[in-house]
Amino acid sequence: MSPRHAYVHVPFCRHRCGYCDFTLVAGRDDLVDRYFAALARELRRVETPLSLDTLYVGGGTPSHLGADGLRRLFDLLHERLAPPADGEVTIEANPLDVTSALVAAARGCGVTRVSLGGQSLDAATLRALDRDHAADDVRRAVGLLRAAGLVVSLDLMTAAPGQSLADAERDLAGAILLGPEHMSVYCLTWEQGTAFDAARRRGDLAAVPEDAERAMYEAAIDGLTAAGYEHYEVSNFARSGHRCRHNEAYWEARPWEAFGPGAARFDGRTRTTNHRSTTTWMTRVLGGETYHGDVDAMSAEEAARERLVLGLRRRDGVGREAFWAASGCDLDGVAGSTIRRWVEAGLATDDGSVVRLTRAGLLVSDTLWADVL
Ligand code: SF4
Repeated sequence: MSPRHAYVHVPFCRHRCGYCDFTLVAGRDDLVDRYFAALARELRRVETPLSLDTLYVGGGTPSHLGADGLRRLFDLLHERLAPPADGEVTIEANPLDVTSALVAAARGCGVTRVSLGGQSLDAATLRALDRDHAADDVRRAVGLLRAAGLVVSLDLMTAAPGQSLADAERDLAGAILLGPEHMSVYCLTWEQGTAFDAARRRGDLAAVPEDAERAMYEAAIDGLTAAGYEHYEVSNFARSGHRCRHNEAYWEARPWEAFGPGAARFDGRTRTTNHRSTTTWMTRVLGGETYHGDVDAMSAEEAARERLVLGLRRRDGVGREAFWAASGCDLDGVAGSTIRRWVEAGLATDDGSVVRLTRAGLLVSDTLWADVL
């Protein structure tokens, strides 16, 4: 069955934020033409245009391409990827890039949803996160996007260096006032090899204490649900009818296509990841060479275990019947003793048909997955 979901990676940013380890090049707009040439070539992998339910253009910063670049990108994509009229088409955007011209171009390209990397509405927190925009840029961008009828998903980050619980609560309250249909709240992670990681090792930056980090996450859950957002995944919150359909496909382990440097595609069993270096991916694609890096071919049971972990991220939990139908594996055969242990520890509930994490389980979810995988 052809995938009904596709991801496209645009690896350009104005500058690399100190905590970011994504696949990208900063300040290398000279590579944009070559990127388009390589992307056109990779898209030829798709022989018959794919009919999609969702298309997600992430990065990097797709909005960094500007209005003309966005039109050029979508002209290219539409040759092989055809989202239907009621499909969900998301682009990621940096607040500084959101202008009337960009918004008009996005609408003209069929974009329905913009994921805005706002991160905070507080000047000190934005500085601490090494972001190059101000709080007013976030407010202005959300206003422009909403006025154009685009669905807005706003990213917020917690546990930034020096951020207090009160700071995080103010960010949440301010974000709610902006009225985005969707919010993603992520806790800062200190990835190896980033400038933040190096600064922490030198003692120049300090992580927020773990109990404060948890308190911020709980404040997000309480504040956003009280404001009418559905908490539908560990880090994601949506107004009614505005869950991210694309990410739901990931969490349901449905097959998806992916293009661009570092992009990972999944056919239901095998995950194939393109080379993470933008320049290597371009050189190899244009040279007609193999351009993927890791190929993770899973057995039926490994795929079922991964499906369980992804499914438990969702507040809907994992139903035994649906799990069997999708994976061909019995949930209790795959993880029965682990689930019983979680239930006894108050980390999950199990009503005999559906297993869900409790709030206590959500708070430590990252540490639970190793029990299954
Ligand atoms: S804008 Fe986003 S993708 Fe680009 S460097 Fe910053 S965090 Fe990374």
